[in-house]
Amino acid sequence: MRWINDFIRLFFPRNCIVCGTPLVDGEEELCTACLLSLPEVHTANSNENLVERRLRGRVPVQHATALLVFHRKNSTQTILHQIKYSSNQKLAHIMGRQLGLHIAQSGQFDDVDIIVPVPLHRRKERRRGYNQSLLLCRGLAQTFERPIADGILVRTRHTESQTHKNRIERLENMKGVFAVTDPKALQGKHILLVDDVITTGATTEACYAALSSVDGLRVSIAALAVSGDT
Ligand SMILES: [Zn+2]
Repeated sequence: MRWINDFIRLFFPRNCIVCGTPLVDGEEELCTACLLSLPEVHTANSNENLVERRLRGRVPVQHATALLVFHRKNSTQTILHQIKYSSNQKLAHIMGRQLGLHIAQSGQFDDVDIIVPVPLHRRKERRRGYNQSLLLCRGLAQTFERPIADGILVRTRHTESQTHKNRIERLENMKGVFAVTDPKALQGKHILLVDDVITTGATTEACYAALSSVDGLRVSIAALAVSGDT
């Protein structure tokens, strides 16, 4: 069916996924105006690191950052929805590159050794066809050049949707969900754990619980978005 899509695109140019304006040459998924007005974390909240604040006292990370602030109905929500539920893998790659630029420019992550995506359960990944965090990592590694270790952190248990749970229920739901398959490979390393969105931080906390068993491991966090509502 791929040729049909290519054929359609040839005659019907794609539109910006946020504002619907037809894209021009050189624009991918987002028009330039939308790309330049993304709700970036540092412009929304200049003095506070929303991610570090969300994880403070729970996950002892080296550094933590996100590119975008997520609010209901803002353009970040559209982007996340496209990446997670509309199979827009190209957008994941593009946003990964943007996140990588943000990380490289911050200077805080220079001694990171390895990039690790937050894993999906095998069953969920098969159903979706991809892990959006791994796609973000691949884009990210183009602008922040580090090796990606996929499969070193795995999700051992499928968890039901977290959307309608409160914070305590989410934490309970996430206990023992992640495992490290090859602890030796991570010993003494500084890893950058990459997720699509941080809301309560329960997933990050559960990943850290699994990773904390590795000797001398340091963990930093990068997410495409952080929820500004919680
Ligand atoms: Zn637009």
